[in-house]
Amino acid sequence: MSRLPRGRQFFANPGPTNIPDSVLHAVAHPTVDFMDADFLALYEACQAGVKRVLKTTQHLFMYTASGHGAWEASLLNLCSPGDLILIIESGHFSESWARMAADLGLRVQGVAADWQRGVDFAALRAALAGDAAHEIKAVCAVHNETSTGTVLPLTEVRAALDATAHPALLLTDTISSLGSIDFRMDEWGVDVAVGGSQKGLMLPTGMSFTGVSAKAMAAHAAAKLPRHYFDWTAMLQRRHKSFVGTVPTSLFYGLKESLRLIEEEGLEAVFARHTRLAEAVRACVRHWAGNNGPQLFCLTPARLSDSVTAVLMPEGHDAEAIRRTCLRMFNVSLGGGLSRLGGKVFRIGHLGDLNEPMVLGTLASVEMALAIHGVPHAKGGVDAAMAVLAAAARGEMEQAA
Ligand code: PLP
Repeated sequence: MSRLPRGRQFFANPGPTNIPDSVLHAVAHPTVDFMDADFLALYEACQAGVKRVLKTTQHLFMYTASGHGAWEASLLNLCSPGDLILIIESGHFSESWARMAADLGLRVQGVAADWQRGVDFAALRAALAGDAAHEIKAVCAVHNETSTGTVLPLTEVRAALDATAHPALLLTDTISSLGSIDFRMDEWGVDVAVGGSQKGLMLPTGMSFTGVSAKAMAAHAAAKLPRHYFDWTAMLQRRHKSFVGTVPTSLFYGLKESLRLIEEEGLEAVFARHTRLAEAVRACVRHWAGNNGPQLFCLTPARLSDSVTAVLMPEGHDAEAIRRTCLRMFNVSLGGGLSRLGGKVFRIGHLGDLNEPMVLGTLASVEMALAIHGVPHAKGGVDAAMAVLAAAARGEMEQAA
């Protein structure tokens, strides 16, 4: 059964994410000509703002497409048929990017990893060192694997490339980390950073982008995979230096507002808020685990994601039942388990426009659902989360006094 939804839905998916009211209002802008001077000024301010969030001063190409489009653009613009790509396994999204590369006619080599622990960097170094002929054109890494709630330390990926003096390009997926977890394109030597509108930038789905380094632009000049809509050279010839077709102007009005919100709070404060809320979620799940209950899927503490927590159900209990009950009875929308994690894992998104009561409401609803379905767990997970959040607030208040 399901109740009629009343009140606001607590949207605890790890993307798309909640859209702040002021962004929703900004998106509801009358149509403008995308060549108008006023719009061009706003557009350029948005490009500069996205570069600040990516921490790059290099190229930025934008697409009317979800993140998959930006993934595809990165491969099409850098590779030729038969090129070899090294993909670091992290979960559902690294597998999907690998499948896309194979479908585009690339050879794909994986660096295998345990989804619960993340890659062993010795295996990455061995793969790079083993490529004496430097056949590997690019290393693809998902910064924040949204399906497992695991972060890949990109500085370690860069270090592996440097230690082996391997010239491969470093392509990173920042789709569920940008604007929620620290990411530094230029400082970390990232050649392509793939991002999307619907996560940390708190916008509707439909726009994605790639930050592109000078080194990647040089590789682009020699790349031969067929492309048209995503062609960076074609984009550079257009007034907007992006978008081969119509520019989605409404999204830019929203983007201007979301960048304003992010910069008003301050990127560092945005990251700190995500860490605080994530720590509360983790304290709650660790508490539930006490009685053979659900537990954190990610087993490497240093790699736990601050934007999404994947929760592994005890054997014999269905994650989808918890998700369904949360949605139908409490109007709380959780993320489900993807590919091989279907039914085993549910995911709590704590990414974007979110505060303490929203997280606590979500956790309380999950705890109720666990009780309803007779899933073993230690009661009081929400109290554990409250203790974390209260301590953080007390600390801030004392510091301000
Ligand atoms: N990469 C990651 C890490 C994601 O979380 C997602 C979507 O959730 C994607 C890629 C795919 O992006 P999109 O659904 O916007 O095409």
